[in-house]
Parts: sequence; C-alpha cells; structure tokens
Amino acid sequence: MNHNNFILREKNGLKYYTIESFDKYNIKHMFTTRVGGCSKGAYSSLNMGIGIAEDINAVIKNNDRVLEIFNTDKNNLYISKQVHGDNIIAVDNLNNDDYTILREKGVDGLVTDAKNKLLCCYFADCVPLFFLDPSKMVVGVAHAGWRGTVNGIAGKMIDVMKEKYNSNASDILVGIGPSIGPCCFEVKEDVFDVFAKKIQNISEISKQITSDKWLIDLWKVNKILLKEKGVLDRNITISSICTFCNEDLLYSYRRDKGKTGRMAALIRL
Ligand SMILES: [Zn+2]
Repeated sequence: MNHNNFILREKNGLKYYTIESFDKYNIKHMFTTRVGGCSKGAYSSLNMGIGIAEDINAVIKNNDRVLEIFNTDKNNLYISKQVHGDNIIAVDNLNNDDYTILREKGVDGLVTDAKNKLLCCYFADCVPLFFLDPSKMVVGVAHAGWRGTVNGIAGKMIDVMKEKYNSNASDILVGIGPSIGPCCFEVKEDVFDVFAKKIQNISEISKQITSDKWLIDLWKVNKILLKEKGVLDRNITISSICTFCNEDLLYSYRRDKGKTGRMAALIRL
C-alpha cells in the first residue's frame, strides 16, 4: 500500500502540488494550479502556457512568479515543445542557445542529471509524469496525452534513465499528477480500440458507458506500463486528482472547450 501522495501547498499566494515521496529527498518540484497569477477571464489566473492566445505579458509574469519560488530565472528553464509524441531529450549538455531549439523540436519528455536545470512541461488534462532516481540523482518530466500514454512514453522515460544514467528501475520514483481522470475521460470506439491493442486486460483500465462510449483510466495505463519496465508499485504515486472535476483549482481543455490556461510541471535537482 502506498501512503505517499500529492500535497497542495501555498507560497506567495500561489497554490501548487508537490509529491510527498519526492519531498523526502529535498527535490524541488511542483505542479502548478490556476491559483495565484494575473491572467484574466477564461485564463484566470496562473496561466503558464507561453504561446497560448492570451496576454503574453501576464503569462510571463506568471512564469516569473513560479521561477521566484525556485529561486532561479528563465535562463535555467527548459521547456519542451510538446507534440503528443514520445520523443525524450536529455538536456545535460544543452546551453541557453539550445533553449530555442528545444522549443521548436517535438519533445514530450525531458531528463537530466545536471544540477540547476529546471525541466518544464505544460498541461491541461494530459497526464504529467514526474521521475526521480534518488540513487543516481536523475530527474525527469514527461507530457503524456492519451497518445503519448498509449505509445508508452512512461516506459520510454525509464529506458532512457537506464541507458543514459545507469538507473535501476527499482530505484525510480514516479509521480502521476493531476489530469483528466477515469471519471471524465470519455472516448469513442476509435480511441478505445487503440488502448485495447496495447493493454491486454482492457477491462482493468476502461468502463463501457453506452454502446459506443467508454471511460478510460489514463493513470492506470501509465502505471501498468511503468510496472512492465520494472518500476515498483510502491514507488508510483497517483494523485487521483481530476482536472475536469476541479474547476476552482485546475484548467481543463475538455471542460473549457479549448479556451483555457495551462498548468506547469517543473522539477530540478
Ligand atoms: Zn473527473
């Protein structure tokens, strides 16, 4: 039984989650909420997503507020240009010039053993995955939409940590953060079929609700794929917080029909 969880914290008026098992190792990380920023209307208020049709100055101010909590600046920030794929990049040797390149590439997973490099992905329903190997001191973050989830980005992050940093899967801690839950992630047959091809016991991760609609548990799919790679059950923390269900605290792309902000998942050694 895993008693670790995601904890809601508040600092400088910002609300954000941290993972209890990561806190134990003093690894600075967070999953932001919508509380504590200066964006207005549908984007109210801590919209972190650069590149969204919104007041860019407000977004930059929001990012600066978060960077302040990390006691760092944008020169140390590594943002992946997400494309719902499964490309993963180690940012160890990338410098500031590469910051732009990183944003242009299709990358949904970042990993590093370098100190002071702050890894960042954006979310509004997709599944944020946090990684920590406290033995080899490696951190990572990945953006797992339903495509990334079913393409196995969670397991590929483990492969990269094994190959590049000599990590043992049994040492790695994973946090599965706030995202659209099994209560709300409704799909039709086309998407259901993709999951049915990947997951042997499909009834374990889905529930049929009408003749042509299913609910899918993306958290459990990611957990199954991580365990297949050797990550231990007790080292996987699922937040069980649904973005769609928590309008006061979280953005949801589906609930808000696309007109919404983005939360950020950030981690640094
Ligand atoms: Zn829900």
